[in-house]
Amino acid sequence: MAIMSMLAAAVELSFTELRDALGMTDGNLTTHIHTLRKAGYVAVAKSVQDNRSHTTCSQTAAGRRAFSEYVAFLEVIVKQARWLENKTQPNELLTQPLPYKAGITLLRAEHLGMCFGVRDAITMVRKEVAARPLTVLGELVHNATVLDDLGQRGVQFENELDRVTTSAAMITAHGASDKARARARAAGLRVADATCPLVHFAHEQVRKLATSGFHVVVIGRKGHVEVRGLTEDLDECDVVLNETDIDALKARPHFGVAAQTTQPISRVRELVDYLQARFPKSEVRFVDTVCQPTKQRQGAAEEMAFQSDVVLVVGGANSNNTAELVRTCGKYCESVYHVQGPDDVCAEWIPENGTLGITAGTSTPDETIDAVESRVREMTKFQ
Ligand code: SF4
Repeated sequence: MAIMSMLAAAVELSFTELRDALGMTDGNLTTHIHTLRKAGYVAVAKSVQDNRSHTTCSQTAAGRRAFSEYVAFLEVIVKQARWLENKTQPNELLTQPLPYKAGITLLRAEHLGMCFGVRDAITMVRKEVAARPLTVLGELVHNATVLDDLGQRGVQFENELDRVTTSAAMITAHGASDKARARARAAGLRVADATCPLVHFAHEQVRKLATSGFHVVVIGRKGHVEVRGLTEDLDECDVVLNETDIDALKARPHFGVAAQTTQPISRVRELVDYLQARFPKSEVRFVDTVCQPTKQRQGAAEEMAFQSDVVLVVGGANSNNTAELVRTCGKYCESVYHVQGPDDVCAEWIPENGTLGITAGTSTPDETIDAVESRVREMTKFQ
């Protein structure tokens, strides 16, 4: 399982990378690779580099399918077990129950709110603007409160390069293509880069797929700044968000699939399986580029929604991952409301008895989440 999960997260890995990452001996790793190869799950390629033999391993299409099915199966078992556990007692591992008064329990999803990529980008902007006037290229974070604060510090925001009036500009956590970076430098700008390392990872994997001869398919929203950054340097690629988009693709011998980092992983896996079913003769190689904070927030939101009668999802109106959280929670709870801040909370949503869950998108600051929770507490006090 450890070998298959390492290989699922990369196009290919060398024998030594696998050995070192897994802390295995050469002999032990060789035995396991041999077994996986015999089962048809792993392909092994040998070459000579600098007079040394070099061995690389990758998952085969059958291996990827088996691994996806196994992971999906485990997810179902875990969800069922947690749900059953919750029938008799609150699951303290997954949520933090905040009993307020008889009849109402508030739950906060275990993972919620701003991710490290967005936090680091905001810190970088504050530091840069303290030194020189700065324009952020695009929206740094889909949250009006944070943007207002940065605006007051003198940060400007521009989508169009030719409208930038400062000598310094910054690329956001969503990243940018090499072409976009080159355009900014050619315009004479000093370019600071706040690209999240997990977006860098996605860029690297997309590049590897393209140079390995795969036709790249990115699962994500066409036109989203991260997706533009991932695809703009490629000669050819497709962006898909649903089965209809996949139906419209041209057949290719080799599809290499990556995803926008904030897409729900379960939906991404469904679409990869659909692509393989739609083109059974094609090789479909999937590289999992959905970021860990997104997976954690989605998973924690599911657990919390399972246990809640009403869910509030806190986040910016145009935040993609907040919208995804609303969709995810809607699968497990009938009453899900998207709020941008405390003023959006309506008293009539709050039940007299039961559980109210709170989660938040990766752009939402802690203060906004706290303010929403405080508003709910105030409202329940007067019911
Ligand atoms: S959502 Fe994920 S990829 Fe995007 S900035 Fe946050 S951690 Fe990075």
